[in-house]
Amino acid sequence: MTKILAITNQKGGVGKTTTGVNLAASLSAARQRVLLVDLDPQGNATTGSGVDKRGRAITIYHVLLGARAIREARTRSESGEYDLIPANRELAGAEIEMVGLERREARLKEALAGVAGDYDYILIDCPPALNLLTVNGLTAAHAVMIPMQCEYYALEGLSDLVQTVKKVRAHLNPELQIEGLLRTMFDSRNTLAQQVSAQLIEHFGDKVYRTVIPRNVRLAEAPSHGVPALKFDKASKGAQAYLALAGEMLNRRQSATQDLQGRSGHGQG
Ligand code: ATP
Ligand code: MG
Repeated sequence: MTKILAITNQKGGVGKTTTGVNLAASLSAARQRVLLVDLDPQGNATTGSGVDKRGRAITIYHVLLGARAIREARTRSESGEYDLIPANRELAGAEIEMVGLERREARLKEALAGVAGDYDYILIDCPPALNLLTVNGLTAAHAVMIPMQCEYYALEGLSDLVQTVKKVRAHLNPELQIEGLLRTMFDSRNTLAQQVSAQLIEHFGDKVYRTVIPRNVRLAEAPSHGVPALKFDKASKGAQAYLALAGEMLNRRQSATQDLQGRSGHGQG
């Protein structure tokens, strides 16, 4: 079954796009079929995937407005070995243009239905805002993945996000889960980061991924070459961390499936 994840945090610069690109490449390296959806007018996930955002005539913008089918917008990240729905600045206008449309919160969900069967994972890179684009991401997803830096204000921002998830669950997408919280740009020598990390685990328990993404310059350098860190420097701590995250996600998913089979009596023991 396809798993659709919205990578979201209304706080800017916490590592959403870095996670989208590197996780897409890492899941693909683990032989998963992956689609990355760029839902941010900044188009960073597009550029980071090695696709020229200005050169794309058909993007997520045209899909959300119903002018084009999602298959027409789809392209390939050759460097990451996954499929991509690109975005560029044009998308900034979508919010206003979508206001008059029917079921405006469910435009992405309806579009993805046309291609979901082609993938094991669909990752949605959301913009740093709790706006209509993000609401489209949350409505389309089965679950949210929240990248966050372990800083003083991080927990405060998190409660706003959790409230938004609850509202979307109540009104638009009853199935929406919190898949996990990902500690990004982590510096284990920083005492405050350790404290915030401990609080996070206290509040969210095993929703916090065991895998921690360290601060690593290779992760910051790779996008300017249009490649994921995995292709830029596979041995780097950053690339290895995202490979580990993909492994953790696949293990979690496997044990969840086994639990289900066990409970319904179809397991093998
Ligand atoms: P925005 O909210 O603007 O969309 P974002 O949450 O998508 O930002 P990124 O663009 O992924 O965040 O990361 C912000 C900056 O930090 C980028 O320059 C990126 O290269 C860098 N960065 C992300 N993760 C790491 C890391 N683990 N180590 C070092 N640099 C990182
Ligand atoms: Mg981003």
